[in-house]
Amino acid sequence: MKESLYINGKWVAPQQGGTVKVTNPATGETVREIGYGGRADAVKAVDAAHDAFAEWSAKTVYERAAPLLRLANLIRENADDLARVLTQEVGKPLGESRGEIGAGADQFEWYAEEVKRSAGDVIPNRMGDKRHLTIRHPVGPVAAIAPWNFPILLTARKIAPALAAGCTVIARPASQSCLTLLDMFKLVAAAGFPPGTANLLIGNPSECSEVFLEDPRLKKISFTGSLEVGRELYVECAKRMKKVSLELGGHSPFIVMPDMDPDEAAERAVFAKFRNMGQVCISASRFFVPNAMKTEFENKAAELASALAIGNGLDADTDVGPLFLPKRVEDTARFVEDIKSKGGRILCGGRAPEGEKYAKGNFFMPTVATDITPDMLIMKEEPFCPVLPIIGYDDIDDALRMANDTPYGLAAYVATRRLDWAVKAAERLEAGIIGINDCTPAAAQCPFGGMKSSGLGREGWRQGLEGYYETKYVSIGV
Ligand code: NAD
Repeated sequence: MKESLYINGKWVAPQQGGTVKVTNPATGETVREIGYGGRADAVKAVDAAHDAFAEWSAKTVYERAAPLLRLANLIRENADDLARVLTQEVGKPLGESRGEIGAGADQFEWYAEEVKRSAGDVIPNRMGDKRHLTIRHPVGPVAAIAPWNFPILLTARKIAPALAAGCTVIARPASQSCLTLLDMFKLVAAAGFPPGTANLLIGNPSECSEVFLEDPRLKKISFTGSLEVGRELYVECAKRMKKVSLELGGHSPFIVMPDMDPDEAAERAVFAKFRNMGQVCISASRFFVPNAMKTEFENKAAELASALAIGNGLDADTDVGPLFLPKRVEDTARFVEDIKSKGGRILCGGRAPEGEKYAKGNFFMPTVATDITPDMLIMKEEPFCPVLPIIGYDDIDDALRMANDTPYGLAAYVATRRLDWAVKAAERLEAGIIGINDCTPAAAQCPFGGMKSSGLGREGWRQGLEGYYETKYVSIGV
């Protein structure tokens, strides 16, 4: 399919005729070959988003909410088909794919409703002959850049509030996993947005970003991805005074408090770690466990991780799928070798599974490692891999200090039944999202985003709309 770009209400082929193959990480097979755009297509997309802005931003919130709600419903009606494609291109098991599709629909529904309550202010006047009020004004055309791991949810987190606020949008997904979003845009086309309001640009990241940065008609870049690319964009946006919001990487601690049953804690830890094989920005990736229960926790975690069924995400009995790219398998092996070379122990996994079933995919066994020390790579780099590293501790203050000892601050998890420990941890952990006995805290109606190097701004909740508004203050002499 060459006509893979949705620009100005039409499916079009890239101007220079390039294509890209999307590969199934479980089988190595091509899922689809589609058109892949570049600079000239990015310019067309900005033209369309710019031209559509005046009409879309002038609509009432009720008029803007209607197609957003229709889209939420269409996504839910087509969830099974979308989920299958998502599993084929990203590798996650079907259940996880259905969860992502549902969470994407939630974003459109939530913002269709929330925008009706996003009022300006009437501010009390000090001088008798003045009146003051604020008006919320959409920032303008926005580029929404998303990574490969949650292509629907992460794009929806940006374009749902942007469209609700009155901005027009250009969605630019990672080309290696753009098919589900491409299919979702067929639903965007059916939902009744005016041409140019919501555009899909599949194409070369640097060329597209150069256009987004250089063109003054494009008012904001909303980016989710790695710290490295996010930092680069931040610098380039600063040079041009272009608005930017950043959702970046994480290295989330998971603290098991001393009151926990070690088996129950291990069950939660294994669930938290191996969702999407650890390739989630809020994946728990450093597990702090009291030394008094460390051996029991290790044994149970290794037993549960070894029992996870590895396979093609489309198979009903698969618990964990492949990693996304061969490079992720190499990186995981690198973390494992580094742990071994520095005195850590691999309790299970630690290598690719053997057998015909795994020969063509990017598979790695769920791995539990212990006796982890701060000098190991897995404690320093964002792992994004299926390794559950265990660090023993004796004192809760030490655990909290080690948990905060990272430049990242996206999510943090605590397992405890003691309210005082839960409150203390929530207050002291340096993270934008804190899950107390909750390993999947993300929700459309709640704020999502990072402290420290994990980002700028928040998505979700009413804060998600704020990033797409300018506040205009109007002072009236009477
Ligand atoms: P990445 O930074 O390599 O790519 C992210 C997006 O940026 C992709 O669409 C990519 O094509 C594009 N891109 C790459 N180079 C670019 C450039 N020079 N200019 C503009 N765009 C460019 O990240 P990734 O490997 O796709 O995703 C994994 C990372 O994303 C991890 O660090 C993960 O933690 C992070 N992430 C963060 C969140 C969050 O909400 N905070 C969510 C998911 C993933």
